[in-house]
Amino acid sequence: MDLKGKIRVIEDFPQKGISFKDITTLIKDGEAFKFVIKSLADLVKDKNADIVVGPEARGFIIGAPLAYELGAGFVPTRKNGKLPAKTLNAEYKLEYGTDIIQMHEDAIKPGQRVIVADDLLATGGTALSNIDLVERVGGKVVAVAVVIELTELGGRNVLQNYDVFSLVKYL
Ligand code: AMP
Repeated sequence: MDLKGKIRVIEDFPQKGISFKDITTLIKDGEAFKFVIKSLADLVKDKNADIVVGPEARGFIIGAPLAYELGAGFVPTRKNGKLPAKTLNAEYKLEYGTDIIQMHEDAIKPGQRVIVADDLLATGGTALSNIDLVERVGGKVVAVAVVIELTELGGRNVLQNYDVFSLVKYL
């Protein structure tokens, strides 16, 4: 399937110089959405994951159906102050400064096999902060799975110790 044809690219959003890859045009197409989730599941099914972790907000859109398809559980990581029980925090880099992402400290048991899923991999900072949370509670990250990879931003290098899977690549 021509996934690039379904992804809307908007230049200079949310700020000048960013070429924004908008997946809303892909996921509103039922056939394309199903194809994406099934294709990602095919790439990672031999990892025998127990849990898929997805960062707020677009990581929920990809991660939850991927978990369902794999028969795994889903664990959300969220922006500061959104999760109700006791959390672990990790910092991640923004364009300017840093922000905090949180996960419930009882979300993952030691030894569980975990896939980190998101819509897009750019610098890898988001994936790394999620990996940090998973590893601090003893989870084993067996894959990073994204729909889109921006290859020139070097996320794959930052994640060189992990298996990275993507469906669509842009420079
Ligand atoms: P990074 O942490 O640099 O790998 O950035 C990945 C995260 O930022 C993902 O959660 C994406 O949703 C978002 N993101 C970064 N760059 C873009 C882009 N060009 N288009 C759409 N989303 C992006």
